[in-house]
Parts: sequence; C-alpha cells; structure tokens
Amino acid sequence: QLHILGNNCPLDKDQLGYQTWGLLHTMAAYYPDHPTDRQRKDMSKFFVLLSRFYPCETCAKDFSDMISIRPPVTTSQESLSQWLCWAHNNVNYRLGKPLFDCSRVNERWRDGWTDGSCDP
Ligand code: FAD
Repeated sequence: QLHILGNNCPLDKDQLGYQTWGLLHTMAAYYPDHPTDRQRKDMSKFFVLLSRFYPCETCAKDFSDMISIRPPVTTSQESLSQWLCWAHNNVNYRLGKPLFDCSRVNERWRDGWTDGSCDP
C-alpha cells in the first residue's frame, strides 16, 4: 500500500490513478439521488474538464474519447456511480486488470462491505 500512498514525492501514474479514482468514486457515492439541473450540468462539465487537465496524457486522451462515446449519466447517485464503475472497468480492461463487480460499488465506496470489515 505504501507504493500507492507515496512518501511525499511527486505522484507516479499509478499513485495518481489510485487516488483520483478514490476521489471520483467517493464523489459519485455522495452525489444526490435527485440532483438539480445545475448539479447535473456541473457534474457533466466536471468530467469533461478532468479529461482535459488530467496530468497523464494518454490517460486523458482515452478518458476524453470514452466520455464522447458514453457521456456521464448524471440523473442520480445510482446512475452516476454505475457509469463511473463502467468507465473504470473500461480502463481496467485496457490495462489487463480484473473487472470490478458494479453491483457492489456502493459497498466499496459508501456503505462498507456487508461482512462488517470496514466497521470502525
Ligand atoms: P485502481 O484501478 O486505481 O483502483 C483503485 C480501487 O478502486 C481498487 O482497489 C478497487 O477497490 C476499486 N475499483 C477497481 N475497479 C473499480 C470499478 N470499476 N468501479 C469501482 N471501483 C473500482 N493508467 C495507465 O497505465 N494507462 C491509462 O490509460 C490510464 N488511464 C486512466 C484514466 C483515468 C481517468 C484514471 C483516473 C486513471 C487512469 N490510469 C491509467 C490509472 C489506472 O486506472 C490505475 O489507477 C492504476 O494503474 C493503479 O491501479 P490499482 O490496481 O492500484 O487500482
């Protein structure tokens, strides 16, 4: 885990990716169930801007292409979390990593696993 969390040095591609996914999935986990039009627009814009400024050129290009093909689904917490899970799995697939079971995305990023292993 230390290689992921780092040691006060600039982030490499994997550290940046791990920490960015953490922020993105947590944002999706706490996105409203009934967002306003403004919130929906802002969230869509957020992902477009992220894809323009993400500081890994090939990652940014791929993410931007992915968003053009299948834009963020901002209608609810459920739809945004599922869309992001799909997007992350798309990257996982490309990198040869295991795919994540998207039916468990709220356990991973919001509620904790049902076996209680995340309980304080
Ligand atoms: P990560 O993939 O970082 O995942 C972190 C945690 O998220 C996992 O431990 C798991 O619990 C959970 N998780 C995994 N999959 C899902 C899912 N589908 N839904 C919900 N939770 C999940 N790296 C490259 O080498 N090339 C690229 O082109 C590239 N593009 C990227 C694009 C973006 C937008 C981002 C944010 C990252 C990108 N990365 C890329 C980095 C890459 O995705 C990983 O973050 C990095 O390789 C570290 O992987 P990891 O195995 O530590 O876990």
